[in-house]
Amino acid sequence: MEFVNLNKQYQAYKKEIDHAIDAVLKQGDFILGNEVANFEEDFRNYTKAAYAIACANGTDALHLALRVHNIGQGDEVIVPDFTFIATASMTALVGATPVFADINPETFTIDPLDVKRKITKNTKAIITVHLFGYPSAIAELQSICKKHKIFLIEDCAQAFGAKYKNQHVGTYGSCGCFSFFPAKNLGAYGDGGLITTNNKEIYEKLRMLRSHGARTKYNSELIGINSRLDTVQAAILRVKLRHFEKELIQRQQFADYYNNHLKSFSIIQKPFSKTEYQHSWNYYTLRVKNREQLAKHLKEKNIPAMIYYPVPLHQQQVFGYRNYHKGDFPKSEQVTNEVLSLPLSAFMTEQELEEVVTSINGFTNQ
Ligand SMILES: *Cc1c(COP(=O)(O)O)cnc(C)c1O
Repeated sequence: MEFVNLNKQYQAYKKEIDHAIDAVLKQGDFILGNEVANFEEDFRNYTKAAYAIACANGTDALHLALRVHNIGQGDEVIVPDFTFIATASMTALVGATPVFADINPETFTIDPLDVKRKITKNTKAIITVHLFGYPSAIAELQSICKKHKIFLIEDCAQAFGAKYKNQHVGTYGSCGCFSFFPAKNLGAYGDGGLITTNNKEIYEKLRMLRSHGARTKYNSELIGINSRLDTVQAAILRVKLRHFEKELIQRQQFADYYNNHLKSFSIIQKPFSKTEYQHSWNYYTLRVKNREQLAKHLKEKNIPAMIYYPVPLHQQQVFGYRNYHKGDFPKSEQVTNEVLSLPLSAFMTEQELEEVVTSINGFTNQ
């Protein structure tokens, strides 16, 4: 069993994908070709974002979103302590200071109450992460941002397809940052990323920033970078996007199956759910007791289970872990020791799903 079965997905769409790649190769239009613009349009149509700007990867999407707001030296950006490193490292890369906030252990997303405590006169933005695909507390964060006149940036790397109040994540903040890393729920065959925005000025500036700060070739108005989505990847993503809704429904059904059938003393909490918060199920993540033994038990049964994430950001060397003390981020520290993500993808078989359930339910604490 694989954690995410990419090969089965390829076999299912092989004809369409091969054809799409072939067409790009024949056209010979490899950088920002037609398919990139077409993919951006498909993405806008799907998410109902006003603008979409494809870029090289999700990390760059975050980098560009910070740059477009002129965030840099002397600025503070509040980020969750429990997330993938890029959320905070891009903040540091532009010269600003990442300020960590604790999370809500039920949803794994940033805690608006702790965000309020961390606001200073230097705070320029909040980056909220819809971790594992569950929408964070968007309404509360929006009202904090409005009150303090700061930007809300959404890290949607794991949340393509997720919705809050029936509206796609990535369309609430000033920018939504997406990743098409192969294991994300919309995955390329390489790296890829995209930024959504509803603001025309931000859109135009982002278009320049991703390509040497130039509005037209060789006329640079800003210091930009080279962060473009490959035309081949755009063509592949267009095919996968056509099948995405069906895959999302399948993942939802598999998640429901886990929710209904997993019964073990070791489970502290199954994924949180609440009406109005629609999960994209990039990861099905439990909080468990005796995690190391359970992980070992699953490994012996050849069930791939993963720990996202084993180290909270404040304990990363690069963020000066010596400046923090145990208990500074109690919830984040707690879930770090409890999280376990189970295999979940649209191409799992029911038999595999049952195997995971039987193995977890059969775990005894020896
Ligand atoms: C994957 C991921 C990123 C980075 O995306 P890449 O495309 O791998 O650069 C950023 N934030 C989160 C939460 C992610 O899961």
